[in-house]
Amino acid sequence: MSVRFSLIAALSTSNEITDEVKFAFEKAQVEANTTLFKKGVPKSVDVKEIGQLIDIKYSGNTTELKFESGTYTRAHDALFRFKKYVAPVLGSYHIGIRGIDVKKYKMTITGVPDNVRIPTLPFIESHELKNGELTLDLKVTSADLENKVPDRILKLIEEKIQSVSYGGKGEHWELVFASAPKPRLFTRDPTEEMVKRNWIRHGAARGQWIHGPQSVQLFRAFEQIVVEKIIRPLGFSEMIFPKLTPWDVWMRSGHAKGVYPEIYYVCTPKTRDPAFWEDVGDYFKVTGKVPVEMIRDKIDGPIGGLCYAQCPSFWPFVQGETLGTASLPVKVFDRSGTSHRYESGGIHGIERVDEFHRIEIVWLGTAEQTVAMADRLHEAYHHVFEEILELEWRCAKVTPWFMAQEGMVDTGKTPQTVEGGACGCGERVGTTDYEAYLPYSDNWLEFQNVSINGDKYPKGFNVKIQSGADCWSGCSGIGLERWTAAFLAQKGLDMANWPDNMKKLVGEPNEIFRFM
Ligand code: ATP
Ligand code: ZN
Ligand code: MG
Repeated sequence: MSVRFSLIAALSTSNEITDEVKFAFEKAQVEANTTLFKKGVPKSVDVKEIGQLIDIKYSGNTTELKFESGTYTRAHDALFRFKKYVAPVLGSYHIGIRGIDVKKYKMTITGVPDNVRIPTLPFIESHELKNGELTLDLKVTSADLENKVPDRILKLIEEKIQSVSYGGKGEHWELVFASAPKPRLFTRDPTEEMVKRNWIRHGAARGQWIHGPQSVQLFRAFEQIVVEKIIRPLGFSEMIFPKLTPWDVWMRSGHAKGVYPEIYYVCTPKTRDPAFWEDVGDYFKVTGKVPVEMIRDKIDGPIGGLCYAQCPSFWPFVQGETLGTASLPVKVFDRSGTSHRYESGGIHGIERVDEFHRIEIVWLGTAEQTVAMADRLHEAYHHVFEEILELEWRCAKVTPWFMAQEGMVDTGKTPQTVEGGACGCGERVGTTDYEAYLPYSDNWLEFQNVSINGDKYPKGFNVKIQSGADCWSGCSGIGLERWTAAFLAQKGLDMANWPDNMKKLVGEPNEIFRFM
């Protein structure tokens, strides 16, 4: 792939550019092209890649400048560098720069596959993709250029190219551990069995279950295992993370880049004045129907969405802070509420639902502390799945969608490298999925994960640590519906077949409903 940037900008000045000034101007041009634009560019770079001011057209108080570049000192960077450089030169002739008007901005990218979706953004006036060459005509202001819009568009297109080549292959998946096979005790779909026994019933919303006492007994037993075998021995403290996530949090966590198809959106009333809403209640009283369209006109937002991933909402607690060495690693967890995802047609049983329950473990500290905690968690989970739940399970390193999406990870390449690199932490950034075998469908179900997120969250939320070393974080999401589905799919609903530990923890099913 290669990229060319071409820019024409009109500089308006307080006075006309006279011949004397032109001379000085062109001296500045030569100086810029030969030294100024080369500053900071490695010597090995081909000069054709470096920005140049190739043409100047004078016309009274406006001077048109044409810049061209490859990827070094890109045309817009060259423009601002030149402006800063030429301002005092003009100043010496009592001429001030009044403004910059971007006349034309063209980007040419080669090596673009023809199935790449070209973004439709207000900044892209037109585009053409022919023989692998993509030409974009941008409509941008000088403020957009200062805001690095062309660079971001290029990055976006690079990501789209990556995702076309990455997309088909799905997640990068690499087995880390697989347990021994376990005896087949049950081969039916556990959700259907739970429904038959009234352990659960469908909720009124899509992808939602009402959990009866028996199902909750299981949830609480799993929770107790997590608390006693993982959370308490490893020293995690309980917190309560908010369950409504505003855009600002998702902007910082990176979810704003792609989570939209799965969000449950949240809106607020335009006003809480009862008179404003009276019509809506009246309509319902008369028709027995809720007037959804009428409501749509009376609400603002969406201001964000319901909890999607649990940990982003934790971060505003430490945002902008520097954490003292004594408090590191910070180890917390949340189990205070539901998570919501619009799973569309993917809904299945209790394992893929729109409303689910998850314990989220979060830790942060130095890179070494973060990686060490992930290792301790892996050990603790291993013990639980082998000795307590006796599951047939495996775990695998995967590249999470947000990292793939952010171009943080090139499959097969080291995603991040730590300064000094001695601990090899950089290679550990990423997610490990835990999967359980489902005999009824002969599939594997991801029931939890452990992620080492590198400096992504501390950077996004501006969190530092006292030592000045990079701050890293990790998180692990334990899905209770998924644990339940995995356990029951392998062991069945009859306690006789359950490991003794689980029998004790769950107790006899509490059947309080008798349906006539
Ligand atoms: P999948 O690939 O199965 O959709 P995911 O990669 O979207 O899972 P994560 O975003 O890693 O899942 O979420 C972490 C954990 O949250 C999962 O391991 C699982 O326990 C739980 N989880 C995610 N989505 C659902 C869902 N729709 N229903 C129940 N649990 C879920
Ligand atoms: Zn998380
Ligand atoms: Mg998913």
